[in-house]
Amino acid sequence: MNYQALADKIKIWGQELGFQKVGICDVDLSEHEAELQKWLDAGYHGEMDWMARHGMMRARPSELLPGTVRVISVRMDYLPPEAQFAANLSDPTQAYVSRYALGRDYHKLIRNQLKKLGQKIEQEVGQFGHRPFVDSAPILERPLAQKAGLGWTGKHSLILDKECGSWFFLGELLIDLPLPVDEASVDQCGKCKACITSCPTQAIVDEGIVDARRCISYLTIEFDGVIPEEFRRAMGNRIYGCDDCQLVCPWNRFSELTKQEDFHRREALKNANLTELFLWDEATFLKNMEGSAIRRIGHLQWMRNLSIAMGNAPYSMEIIDALQQRTGLSEVLDTHIQWALSQQQAQLPLSSTKLDRLIRIVEKGLPRDA
Ligand code: SF4
Repeated sequence: MNYQALADKIKIWGQELGFQKVGICDVDLSEHEAELQKWLDAGYHGEMDWMARHGMMRARPSELLPGTVRVISVRMDYLPPEAQFAANLSDPTQAYVSRYALGRDYHKLIRNQLKKLGQKIEQEVGQFGHRPFVDSAPILERPLAQKAGLGWTGKHSLILDKECGSWFFLGELLIDLPLPVDEASVDQCGKCKACITSCPTQAIVDEGIVDARRCISYLTIEFDGVIPEEFRRAMGNRIYGCDDCQLVCPWNRFSELTKQEDFHRREALKNANLTELFLWDEATFLKNMEGSAIRRIGHLQWMRNLSIAMGNAPYSMEIIDALQQRTGLSEVLDTHIQWALSQQQAQLPLSSTKLDRLIRIVEKGLPRDA
């Protein structure tokens, strides 16, 4: 078997299947085991218990699929056109949804394409052991991607590449064929710390280390409880995920727009008015979010996230009215609605009594407690 020729073909097939880059690496992630354990011991995984449950298996692909000796790591770009980064983020009446979630859920598409890649290889070599992964199992996909030459792990902990930035998904095909491996990517962050200093909730606690419990992506997507008050103001209008660390990254100047129409912004998210999104009833939410990753968080969590953004929005009778309409559905939601109402009420115009008193103070020099 000419494995070099096969590896070359796999890269061509991968590109034909819509992957922008394909790399191959071995399965030795032993150098990452200690740091993974340290991260878990610190509790940085929050309530993502499955991460702790799978322990070191995440760093040992051959335990996930016995016989695995190589991983084919793939990249699929998702940056949609009309992404409206800053415009949307800086308008507090609009909802900001992370760029990766504006279109269809990526899991199915990437898994299907990886399956097709497996079938292509099978046609060439006959039956062989393989299994695709896209966030579907606890696997350390970023160190694998770095080993396979898809990019280095930035200080924000995501993979980025100097030619295309970081707006891409990763997927893996575990295989039992001893293909030649690619050269690992080298860290190019240098002295830059833009992602660390710009994180709204200071979730990047050290270079490459994210405390998920502080991360807006975790809080709005993975976490379904009461979001600690200390983060609510900083969340602004980010209602599903957060892109700030990628928005400031200088390497993202080189990002290309995705060719995958599946990742383009869906119609229902073109108008992202907070109140309108919040007032979707459950049936509307499910219909509008069909095929989207957002659907997984459910209607209550969707409203919870939106209520925080509404508390952070400028005073509006429309917002107060909408918030009041959705009380009594769940304790968690009520807690956030009450907070949002208190933030709105704190911005109320001065009452006439207070105003009169202030006028008297200014006009007659009355003592402040008069
Ligand atoms: S913003 Fe700077 S430090 Fe952060 S990932 Fe990009 S280059 Fe690295």
